Amino acid sequence: MKKTLLYLSFPLLTLTACNNGTGHQKGSTQAVAGDAVNTGFKTYCDHFMDSLWAHEPEWATQMGFHKFDARLNIPGAAGNQATLVFVQQQLNNLKAFELSALTPSHQTDYRMIENYLQSKAWNINTLKEGEWNPAAYNVTGLIAFMLSENYAPLKDRLADCYKRIQQIPAYYEAARQQLKNPVAELKQLGIDQNEGGLYVLEKDFADSLAKVTLSPAEKDSMLTAAKNAAAAVKAYVAYLKTWKDYTPRDFRLGKALYEDKFRYEIQSSLTAEQTYQAALARKRYLHIEMARISRTLWPKYFGTQSIPADTLELIGKMIDTLSANHVKPEGFQAAIEKQIPELIRFIRQKNLLDIDSTKPLVIRKEPAYMAGVAGASISAPGPYDKGGNTYYNVGSLAGWPPAKAESYLREYNHYILQILNIHEAIPGHYTQLVYANRSPSIIKSVLGNGAMIEGWAVYTEQMMLENGYGNNEPEMWLMWYKWHLRTVCNTILDYSVHASSMSRDEALHLLTKEAFQQQAEAEGKWKRVSVTNVQLTSYYSGYQAIYNLREELKKRQGSKFDLRAFHEQFLSYGSAPVKYISELMLQQK
Ligand code: ZN
Ligand code: ZN
Repeated sequence: MKKTLLYLSFPLLTLTACNNGTGHQKGSTQAVAGDAVNTGFKTYCDHFMDSLWAHEPEWATQMGFHKFDARLNIPGAAGNQATLVFVQQQLNNLKAFELSALTPSHQTDYRMIENYLQSKAWNINTLKEGEWNPAAYNVTGLIAFMLSENYAPLKDRLADCYKRIQQIPAYYEAARQQLKNPVAELKQLGIDQNEGGLYVLEKDFADSLAKVTLSPAEKDSMLTAAKNAAAAVKAYVAYLKTWKDYTPRDFRLGKALYEDKFRYEIQSSLTAEQTYQAALARKRYLHIEMARISRTLWPKYFGTQSIPADTLELIGKMIDTLSANHVKPEGFQAAIEKQIPELIRFIRQKNLLDIDSTKPLVIRKEPAYMAGVAGASISAPGPYDKGGNTYYNVGSLAGWPPAKAESYLREYNHYILQILNIHEAIPGHYTQLVYANRSPSIIKSVLGNGAMIEGWAVYTEQMMLENGYGNNEPEMWLMWYKWHLRTVCNTILDYSVHASSMSRDEALHLLTKEAFQQQAEAEGKWKRVSVTNVQLTSYYSGYQAIYNLREELKKRQGSKFDLRAFHEQFLSYGSAPVKYISELMLQQK
């Protein structure tokens, strides 16, 4: 059913028809009526998506586009060359459109496609991650996705899995040949993740196979293919372990690559260094505010005990004390369920933005395969599945050892749990998603800007408190500042580690002493920053861009500024980089 609809709305043209530019390209120099240009651009976007998926079949599967589910890209020079040709053709195709003739939505689509293509070429020509990141090679997650997601009858999914699994030995063989100088931390990650995914080929595939009717001979060849694939994964892991006596590439990206990647990925109007400087200033401001609030609260919680002279110690003590205010393990999901309608009521009462009541958020216990991942998360339907439900997955603490549950509940205490619901659900991620789906743009769904998405969720936390959510209790503000400080310090940490030389000890000091995190959380963050880069800056970067835009509009519009109108207009552009939304909103008067 889904497939049929898909084919109807996205007529699949052959690659050649798209790439040689016939059909949809009009001479860009001629004055073509705006509508015709926009219709042409819409057609171009559809062609672009079709050829993108042909080049990225694994990504296509995960986005819900299943035409190429039997294909597996084999890493290497030939694939890179084909991608570079694709990039050049598409960049040429884009040039046929005059940016200013396009609607605002198409303008942002244009720039997002252009950015995507340029970053793709940069990845191949400059970053060359395939030479040093062994964790980039892993197909077990893809097979797990195909086995567990119900997008087609199991028998069909298994048939596609079988075709992909047959190519897995060639895939890992090619992967080995790409590696020139693995980063030690990423080598370990590659070992862990590939080993961790083996069960998919060794067990899950056979379990799924047992559920369908096929001839014994067919099942036999499928099981043999899975066995060979598992052997290939093991051989890859064994090969990674042979990299011992060599000088590994530094896990730090270095300033030049970092700035480039930041530009492509975050798409901010600031550089990475400017963002880092802004985060440092924000941290100083937060510390001053947190100290002020802690001093005010001190007598209420500590009576006549003397106030610690060291402000960081003072703040730490206050946070620690307030963290004891939390629900019982068995009340966790109920507390979340109760809060969602309260958030909606508050937003309506304060007239902060329209909440679509026809699209209720479905709260559910998190599915087994997600267990233990996060306290709460949003599962949204893919871009090709607009009718699907959006779920708010809530983790259960049933069966957790008491000490683990206690530590978790102290983290997601009475105050932070409310902030979490604002961030993940309403008016954070979930609400943003509802708005984004109103102006459907497949480009924005697929190439959506992470900094805008995360920035919006972070922005709404502050916006709710500014409007009196939590009765302006100083406790609520202090705890939000602590939560927010994590976002700010993620940016400081990521930049200091990858574009400079921050050591592990310095990082742990920043996180535990200046951001009031527990040792375990800080150590986890160090691990994350040693195997990722740039992504950790998206939250703060997006937040500060949205906040600055709002303040600029307030200044310009004076008494005419309307917060609700600002929110609704901002969200109407979809998940585009904030710098483009800002340009569009600041152009208007
Ligand atoms: Zn407790
Ligand atoms: Zn988020």
